[in-house]
Amino acid sequence: MKAAILSIGDELMLGQTQDTNAKWLAERLASVGVPCVQFRVVPDALEAQATALRELAAQAPLVLVTGGLGPTDDDLTREALRLAMGETTPLVRDPDAAESLHRWFRDRGRPMPEINARQALRPAGARCLSNDFGTAPGLHARVGAAEVLCLPGPPREMQPMFERFVAPMLPRLDMATGVVHSFGQGESFLAERLGDRMRRDRNPLVGTTASGAVVSARVRGTGAAADAEAMDRELSVIEGIWAPYAFGRGDTTLAGSLGRALKAKGLTLALAESCTGGLAGSMVTAEAGSSAWFRGGVMCYANEAKRDLCGVRQATLDAHGAVSEAVARELAEGVRGRLGADWAASITGVAGPSGGSEAKPVGTVFIGVAGPGFVGVRRFHYPGERASIRDRAARGALALTRLAIGSPADFAVPFIWEWKPRG
Ligand code: ATP
Repeated sequence: MKAAILSIGDELMLGQTQDTNAKWLAERLASVGVPCVQFRVVPDALEAQATALRELAAQAPLVLVTGGLGPTDDDLTREALRLAMGETTPLVRDPDAAESLHRWFRDRGRPMPEINARQALRPAGARCLSNDFGTAPGLHARVGAAEVLCLPGPPREMQPMFERFVAPMLPRLDMATGVVHSFGQGESFLAERLGDRMRRDRNPLVGTTASGAVVSARVRGTGAAADAEAMDRELSVIEGIWAPYAFGRGDTTLAGSLGRALKAKGLTLALAESCTGGLAGSMVTAEAGSSAWFRGGVMCYANEAKRDLCGVRQATLDAHGAVSEAVARELAEGVRGRLGADWAASITGVAGPSGGSEAKPVGTVFIGVAGPGFVGVRRFHYPGERASIRDRAARGALALTRLAIGSPADFAVPFIWEWKPRG
């Protein structure tokens, strides 16, 4: 089975509303192996809608339409469907839909505006689909050989109606999906490592995506490959291939994976952040239950704060500058001691756009990690804007701490943002 999606509304064409319905529908269809052959967006214009309906119905046996079922003059989906069906008779009043509409207003103690009565109209050859979450009933009809289902625009109405009326029409497919996330290397490097596993004719199917600095392997197994054990095996193999960059599956975040590593050993964390200004701490505290393993962080922006709050020596600051390996080391060790944590990470760098120099250009960041019998500093050079430099630096500190906890050797694993001295 294949599907096409038609989104209706001027506000979509004007960029005022993002077409999240099409995204949601496409993902939901893909989850049962139904690909979308076309997405279309059309304005609140009768001819454009009817034409799009006819054209899409010629291309896919299932056409899903959202929007334009409201009570106002610009809600034209009912009429457009009638035209696309080739009906020459006017819309008819559906008594059940009319009763539901009256009930909807009665239940809320409000008189029904006259204008809403038109929502109970449908093409003679269509059926109404009841809507428990709004006034607009959906419509189901055939246009040529295609089943066309029109659903209301608001996602909170559209989604339950999809599950109730469309999902039962879809093929039942044994399918499972899984994701492995990694941090520290680029998508092409990691995809290359997966080699044949990414062949398009393979089951399970493996693809990679990159979001921010996190590269993920998405696995989709069907039939026997959808079996929980088979999926787990595939995900484990990918984790092995991507070691030590792989940090978790599903909705695991870098902070969550670090928390898991700490919690498993009953250890705690502290942070000293300069150029990230608390970003890493914010990522950590976004994790529910982080109070079990996070002692706290110091946002030590000024040199005095690095000295007075984290114990960095003035002589170190004078000799090396705030953005330096020596300061990152003393920050990590200092905050670890002052907050009484088992592990600590520090971040000091030049996030730009100003403040760079020949020796320490914008994007230069030192990340320090200190733990029981361990202290190490890495130097990176992040490309891009201030926001992305800060984001990568904060994530880098979490990732490196996790690696150091696992094995001191992993702390030295090359990252894509490795600092390379000139010449
Ligand atoms: P209603 O009875 O609420 O008017 P409707 O079917 O007429 O339903 P529209 O008037 O087209 O729907 O859109 C109503 C609202 O639904 C929009 O203002 C927007 O917030 C949301 N919406 C519409 N289409 C989409 C879409 N494709 N993606 C996300 N949201 C949408």
